[in-house]
Amino acid sequence: APARQSWMERLKSGLRKTGSSIATVFTGTRIDDALYEELETALLMADTGVQATEHLLQDLKRRVKDSKATEPAQVKGLLMDAIAELLAPLQKPLVIGAQQPTVIMVAGVNGAGKTTSIGKLTKHLADSGASVLLAAADTFRAAAKEQLAVWADRNTVEIISQEGGDPAAVSFDAVSAGRARGKDVVLVDTAGRLPTQLHLMEELKKIKRVVQKADNTAPHEVLLVIDGNTGQNALAQVKSFDEALGLTGLIVTKLDGTAKGGVLCAIAREKAIPVYFIGVGEKLEDLETFDAREFAQALLS
Ligand code: GDP
Repeated sequence: APARQSWMERLKSGLRKTGSSIATVFTGTRIDDALYEELETALLMADTGVQATEHLLQDLKRRVKDSKATEPAQVKGLLMDAIAELLAPLQKPLVIGAQQPTVIMVAGVNGAGKTTSIGKLTKHLADSGASVLLAAADTFRAAAKEQLAVWADRNTVEIISQEGGDPAAVSFDAVSAGRARGKDVVLVDTAGRLPTQLHLMEELKKIKRVVQKADNTAPHEVLLVIDGNTGQNALAQVKSFDEALGLTGLIVTKLDGTAKGGVLCAIAREKAIPVYFIGVGEKLEDLETFDAREFAQALLS
């Protein structure tokens, strides 16, 4: 489909900032140590991380040996296979279950693209026929509620918020309202930063506990939004949020403008939490499901 083509192009042009340096490794005529060394540097520069880079190099050398490849261009194809295989465990769809409502808690540090991603996700869910209720549980940042309300308007969905309210109370209300109003999904927007005297992880754990009180099967999903531009820092965020909250999925944003696309390989190697969606732009429709092979292709194009 043309729409799919254009986001792939956008992803490619973003990743090309990385990809060009990986792809150029294969423009020579010989498969030798120099090629592997250049490749190692290129992978590390793309924020693939030491562990995933080592894994890929070993896997690639085995593939080269097995295939008896003689041309660098063939090695590039084999690297694509190796990356696609490494990324495959991250490819998993977000499934909205039969429970009503499915409660999805969304976390992410300020600036990661959390609010935008919730707006896009709302559209994605609404397009698939689900009724959505938004919960404005970031009550610390003055503009957070207003920003979320803008996305609610754009999607014509309802929003639960409280003037100066407590985040946990808003979340509790939203889950109850979601059930009372027969909504399919409640999306809970959480804070990405708190006043310095408060601890973010403790606050998020509290929201999770209170959501559980409102519905003992909830939250059904705990998503973390990470900025694909922040490379290894994003991996550190995945680890610490997972430890505190038990993540069920990721949304990786800003892959339309990044030079750090390799970070997905690092995530796959070190903390294989499904990437439900990738963000490839600032608009409502710029959210795509993650496909391991397409991503590997884009990374090396
Ligand atoms: P939050 O603080 O995590 O809620 O972040 P926002 O949703 O407000 O997003 C921060 C900035 O990143 C905004 O300028 C967004 O338009 C931008 N942004 C979010 N997602 C993407 C994306 O996938 N691609 C691009 N290019 N920009 C994005």
